[in-house]
Amino acid sequence: MRTPFIAGNWKMNVTDKEALAFVDAVKDRIPSSEEVESAVCAQALSLKGMQEKAGNTDLRIGAQNMHEEDHGAFTGEISAQALTSIGIDLVIIGHSERREMFNETDERVNRKLHAALAHGIMPIVCIGENVDDRDAGRATGVVREQLEQALQGVEAEQVKGCVFAYEPVWAIGTGKSSHPEEAGEMARTIRAYVHEAYGQSAAEAVRIQYGGSVKPENIGDYMADNDIDGALVGGASIKVDSFLALLEAA
Ligand code: 13P
Repeated sequence: MRTPFIAGNWKMNVTDKEALAFVDAVKDRIPSSEEVESAVCAQALSLKGMQEKAGNTDLRIGAQNMHEEDHGAFTGEISAQALTSIGIDLVIIGHSERREMFNETDERVNRKLHAALAHGIMPIVCIGENVDDRDAGRATGVVREQLEQALQGVEAEQVKGCVFAYEPVWAIGTGKSSHPEEAGEMARTIRAYVHEAYGQSAAEAVRIQYGGSVKPENIGDYMADNDIDGALVGGASIKVDSFLALLEAA
């Protein structure tokens, strides 16, 4: 049985003060992680304070990105070691905004994934087609290709600990969420790929999230699909009540 996993991706929308107040407000109100795992991924400068406040509660704090090298002259970047040194063991990798705006290639996503796994950081690997790919009927092919590239050289045992977030680019921040049936089909495409490449136990273990205009009112429609194990939520994860409502409905 896979535990549902709801993660917030706050992007660049929450100040440090707001982030700390959020953790204070939710930390004693979230469900047990045996029922639903919950996380918020914040701007790097808030991670330490949030992690200290979250303490031993079941709220997990994650980063939105990290660099693939352990250290070096990479001004402005964050290493896996810097994250683990403050107790952060969750990171989003390959978000479409990073792929598009920061030129993150499949190859780089792959290197980041290796770095995260080598440091015991759970990766949420984002994949998803853009609107042109979907209109041209290429969505499935694009997602399979992204998966294959992201997972180059990754072992089956490591794949089991990965989370994949299927985020169609056209559904992000647009209010145009994917139809739950389509999202479910894509989750099955992802699981089928993992099955082909890594075998049944890996396919059964990986958790697949849907992301793109998820909110408390529609999360249940996605979670009803057996192959969707959670959600990666942007806008609707920022407010305390909305975040708690997502967990409640999951
Ligand atoms: P929205 O939920 O705001 O559409 O963002 C989705 C997303 O990009 C999560 O990573």
